[in-house]
Amino acid sequence: YVGQEVAPLLADHLYQATVDQLMIPPLLIQQATTIDEAVTQLFMHDVGSLYVVDQQQKLLGVLSRKDLLRATINATNTSTTPVAMIMTRMPNIVTMTEHKTILQAGQRLIAHQVDSLPIVEPDGVTVIGKITKSIIMRYFIEEGLHIQN
Ligand code: ADP
Repeated sequence: YVGQEVAPLLADHLYQATVDQLMIPPLLIQQATTIDEAVTQLFMHDVGSLYVVDQQQKLLGVLSRKDLLRATINATNTSTTPVAMIMTRMPNIVTMTEHKTILQAGQRLIAHQVDSLPIVEPDGVTVIGKITKSIIMRYFIEEGLHIQN
């Protein structure tokens, strides 16, 4: 009985939370950063992707784990090649703004088959955060545990 009453509330609460409640500060790098330095950053900060920005924090590119792995098997000189050579570039980056819901963010992550979305200002390019599949996953599980206890 309790489960039946709680379920609709839980669903509302879960999906209507907004991106700004869950987003994290992204790891930002410059486009002149070498591929080797980017790999080091990935390990040092234990993240799955890096965002490449200009001096004004405007989004230029995204680097995923596989982008970096691909570069290392492609006979690229990773100690000198800048990430600008291998990143996914604007305008091909899928982004989100902070007042969207987790449901909208999740739909976009799935539709575009990516692990993270840069959260940008209404200008569409200034990076203010990051939302990832694992953040949403953790949030769902933690909220579920609250309801159970
Ligand atoms: P991985 O490549 O490690 O599996 P992703 O699934 O996130 O990680 O990335 C897949 C590809 O999509 C990569 O080439 C990456 O640069 C690109 N990518 C990642 N996030 C985005 C995004 N938000 N918009 C567009 N492309 C993205």
